[in-house]
Formats: sequence, C-alpha cells, structure tokens
Amino acid sequence: MNHATIERIETSLVDLPTIRPHKLSVATMHGQTLMLVKVYCSDGVVGIGEGTTIAGMAYGPESPEAMKIAIDSYFAPAMIGRDATRIRALMAHLDKLVKVNHFAKSALETALLDAHGKRLGVTVSELLGGRRRDRLQVAWTLASGDTAKDIDEAQHMLDVRRHNIFKLKIGAKAPKVDIQHVANIKKALGDNAVVRVDVNMAWSETQAAWAIPALADAGCELVEQPVASVAALARLMRRFPIALMADEVLQGPQSAFEIAKQGGADVFAIKIEQSGGLFAAQRVAAIADAAGIELYGGTMLEGAFSTVASAHLFATFANLQWGTELFGPLLITEEILTEPLDYSDFQLTVPNGPGLGITLDEEKVKRFTRDGLMKTTR
Ligand SMILES: [Mg+2]
Repeated sequence: MNHATIERIETSLVDLPTIRPHKLSVATMHGQTLMLVKVYCSDGVVGIGEGTTIAGMAYGPESPEAMKIAIDSYFAPAMIGRDATRIRALMAHLDKLVKVNHFAKSALETALLDAHGKRLGVTVSELLGGRRRDRLQVAWTLASGDTAKDIDEAQHMLDVRRHNIFKLKIGAKAPKVDIQHVANIKKALGDNAVVRVDVNMAWSETQAAWAIPALADAGCELVEQPVASVAALARLMRRFPIALMADEVLQGPQSAFEIAKQGGADVFAIKIEQSGGLFAAQRVAAIADAAGIELYGGTMLEGAFSTVASAHLFATFANLQWGTELFGPLLITEEILTEPLDYSDFQLTVPNGPGLGITLDEEKVKRFTRDGLMKTTR
C-alpha cells in the first residue's frame, strides 16, 4: 500500500530578477537564484523542493550552485531506489552520509513531503499533524536604502492592505543614521504600522547597547540579530523595553537549545532551510515553546516552493506570536506558478491542494533556467 521508490532526481538553477535592489548590511541583491529539485517516484508522483540563499554566499555557507552539486553528486545516488514514503527514515539516512548542508536537505525533504502529500491526497500541513490556522500574517521588508522611497513603498502596502508590519534592514550605515531612518519611517506611518529592524549582525556589542534604547524610543518593537554571538545577545537581553530576535545564530535544534540555555533571545526567527528541513524546524519550535521563547516565521527570501513549504509548517505551530515574513515570491518580478499565491488583507493563505498545493509554470521557468552551473550575463 502506497509503496513508491525514488527513480530519478533532477536539479536546476533558476535566475529571477527582483522588483528593486534589496539592500542588506551584508550585500545588495538585484536578483534571486532558486535551486529547484524534482524527485520522480515509481508511482508516477513528482515532488518539488527549493533551496535558496540570501545574496549568494554573503549570508550563509551554502550557495545554490553548491546545493545542486551536492544533490547531483552525493544525495541523489544515495536516494535512488529507496522508499519515498518513509521520509524521516530517508532523511536520517542522508544525515549520516552528508554533514550539515542544511539548505540542500531542506529542499529534498520539501520535495519528498510534496510528493507524499500528492500521493495520499493531503496537504503538507496535514502530513505534519494538521493546521492551527489557514492564513498567516506577513511582514514586508523595506530595504531600498532610501528613507523617502521606503515610506512610499510602506504607504502603498498599507493602502492595498498587503502588509502592515515592516522590517527595516539596517546596519550598513552608522547607527546614528540608521536610527534616524527608522524614526522617520515610524513617524510617517504612525499607529497604522508596526516597525521592526534587522541588523544582520552588523553591530558590536557596545554599538548595540547604545543603539537599541534609541530604537525603542523611535517606536521600533523588535531588533533582529543586532550582534553576531549568542553570548553578546544574552548580555543584551532584558536591558531594554524591546524584543530581541535570534536569526543567523539559529542553525537547527542544537543551536536552539544552546541559545535557550544561555537566555539569548526573546524570539526565534525559524527558517526551514537554516534549520535543516521542516522536521528540524519543528524541533526548533518545540525547544522555543518549552523555553518560553516566542516564534516568528522567517524567510531566506525564497521563491514559491520553499515559501509555501514554510507556510504549511508555520500553520501547524502551537505559537506564532510574531507572524511571518513569507513575502519572498513578492520580491521576484516573475510569477513561477500557474496560479499565484493569495496575499490579501495582510495575510498569506496556506494552499489547500495535495502536497504543497501549488503548480510550477514549466514554460515560464524554462526561460529563466540556467544552462549548466555557471552564471552567465544575459
Ligand atoms: Mg534576519
């Protein structure tokens, strides 16, 4: 019953333009590369997963190209002929063969869950134990690098009721300049909008100790990863009337336990890729719940497949106090699905079809698929 083995695994790199330059403290992005993986099973079912990074290798240790090579050369040969329906057993097997490579593992696990959901006629969130919510709050990131442009963009998002939570990417400029930028945006938007910041580890501990109270005064309610280390985060905790969120330091269940033990965060930004897959992210959430740490559904600025996989998981969480930032597909100019996702009334609807519940527009994606491994200028 429901027996299916893995017959073939296909990977591709899809280069898509972004709607505007996206400025982070670590890099400026002009496009996004999705590594898509298709898992073909003996019962005719095909599952699709995605691996995506923020700004190539500027943010983390894996690149889309590295994921493709790792899957083609190491993961795929170990998966062919194996039972596609025992996903936890298969992922445990791969964990033994390949160290770390969290993003590649997340892409494969997503494809296996998509396939199994399609096979059984249930959504991925049902495979994960069932939803607690059908719609997820979605924050938008303001990162044009220009205060006036950011205010216009936020005002537009409020007008069309797409987002009312805004995350500001800061840390590339002097803290004083950044704080003025945050204060101006919060003042312009007023009580209609919530403002948070992500420093992406750019500050020293002394800079953070000076800047965080000023951010609180400016009306900012949360600071994401102001400093690089867990120890420094722990020393900054509880000193200011503002929530501190861990992101980059959160690299799966073991790190979640370490951060919780050291009291290094009020909030965890959970990401399926950074955690090492949906099951690993589930364990991160369980550790957070047990430690009284609140949850936020993070993004690696992924395209539709990893975004929707995250949405299925976050929909099952007992707690999701800070909503999500699953806006990745909206940052890309091209729609890669046959039917676009529903972003409305400040929320994303978790799809209801079997598996991930979305369909890749193959013709469209073909135009943006890279020939081979190397990036060429078009
Ligand atoms: Mg972040």
